[in-house]
Amino acid sequence: MTAPLTLANLIDGRQQEPRAGRYLDVFEPAIGAVFARCPDSDAADVDAAVAAAQRAAPDWAATPAEQRAQLLNRLADLVERDLDDLARLESRDSGKPVQLARSLDIPRAVANLRFFAAAITQWPGEAHPMDGRAINYTLRQPLGVVACISPWNLPLYLFTWKIAPALAAGNAVVAKPSEVTPCTAARLGELAIEAGFPSGVLNIVHGNGPQVGQALVEHAQVKAISFTGSTKTGAAIAAAAAPKFKKLSLEMGGKNPAIVFADADLSDANLDTIVRSGFANQGEICLCGSRLLVERSIYDDFKECYLERVRALRVGDPNAAASDLGALVSKAHFDKVTACIERARTDGGHVLCGGDAVRVDGRCADGWFVAPTVIEGLPNDSVTNQEEIFGPVVTLIPFDGEDEAIAIANGTGYGLAASLWTSNLDRAHRVAAKLEFGIAWINCWLLRDLRTPFGGVKNSGVGREGGVEALRFFTEPKNICIRL
Ligand code: NAD
Repeated sequence: MTAPLTLANLIDGRQQEPRAGRYLDVFEPAIGAVFARCPDSDAADVDAAVAAAQRAAPDWAATPAEQRAQLLNRLADLVERDLDDLARLESRDSGKPVQLARSLDIPRAVANLRFFAAAITQWPGEAHPMDGRAINYTLRQPLGVVACISPWNLPLYLFTWKIAPALAAGNAVVAKPSEVTPCTAARLGELAIEAGFPSGVLNIVHGNGPQVGQALVEHAQVKAISFTGSTKTGAAIAAAAAPKFKKLSLEMGGKNPAIVFADADLSDANLDTIVRSGFANQGEICLCGSRLLVERSIYDDFKECYLERVRALRVGDPNAAASDLGALVSKAHFDKVTACIERARTDGGHVLCGGDAVRVDGRCADGWFVAPTVIEGLPNDSVTNQEEIFGPVVTLIPFDGEDEAIAIANGTGYGLAASLWTSNLDRAHRVAAKLEFGIAWINCWLLRDLRTPFGGVKNSGVGREGGVEALRFFTEPKNICIRL
């Protein structure tokens, strides 16, 4: 048996052990066993990281954008060089199929770094002339030290989505990846040293949320917090940050609808995308459509085609090329998802396919696998249709006409993303405009342009990431008015 991989914090340009010498176990979900140890850091490590970031911040802010961009691009090159290793590590850490990590997670991490490297050099200035009397121009200056806190579902993808704009805009960063999937962020820390980032510009502190995350959020020198994770944690962060008047960006949970109208083009490719929108990454993507609303006139036919495709999805060893779904990220999450399915049954839901854990033979016999599950017969106000499950579970809900579709779609406390499927362009625009979600996809899903505003409304989020929204978040505008 090989010794577990031991991860380190990145503080002040060096790999460092946690000051108290404690570690957390990191599990490989596909086999249900420990494979790594991650620093169980505490407030002392956070203090050291923030102090290092504070020392680095003035020089980094004064570094020309072009040079900051060069370093981000160098880091992207290194991630690309190590793409296969990182993909295997991501898969091992999270349970997702290695194919998915290779085609989605790691390439997207590269794209995030490259995108913000380009964006910062292309960011136009703003000026407001006052009819010959005066001219205003706006400086957008870095904030100083900022915190980036990310979740376990798309570990390197979401980690880089935050640190890239923060660094590009000239801030020094203290980042905290999820303790559930810390491995690729730790590896990125090593690559940042290799890329030549100045000491203290990027710091990565591992550990438990309530310990390290909370210390980071409360730290007096941390000027802004960019958080992605659950709504419950987002609320705790907002409560801690509000009295200190910190800038906050919160990307949180969802209960997203996918709406299929009777006039939708249900080609094979579109049906495949609708299936993928529910089950990609085992349903552990905040953008997955977990409520599938189907117009009643096509409900039975659609259900048949849909179930046929869902039943064909293969759950298995994440290393196997044939696996469409891997393991759920942890035993705790496996227990949560299976309990949600049980509750749906108890509440009168009819499980049309899946509904159980899956036993995978061989090395994955002790892994945490759940079959893709489709449930019908529950009203929209049921717990199953209101609370985020964040697993491979989709409910089918029939509707009659546009108004009812919109009412059901909006009938949730969340508002992250919706997708709708129709051949009627007028309807597409009309419905999209009425959906109370930050993102609406028409006849597609997860088609992402990194320039667009990304985020949710209601309990799904505050603020937007992506493009100039992220650069604005990570800078303070200062207006300068000159009398002419
Ligand atoms: P989580 O809230 O448990 O943890 C997210 C991060 O916050 C982790 O790094 C964790 O250690 C840290 N944390 C926990 N408690 C903290 C505290 N008190 N102070 C500071 N930091 C703390 O979320 P998770 O289980 O890792 O991720 C799943 C959730 O993330 C789901 O709800 C999902 O919808 C959401 N998510 C949202 C988006 C989006 O863009 N809106 C994207 C991905 C995931």
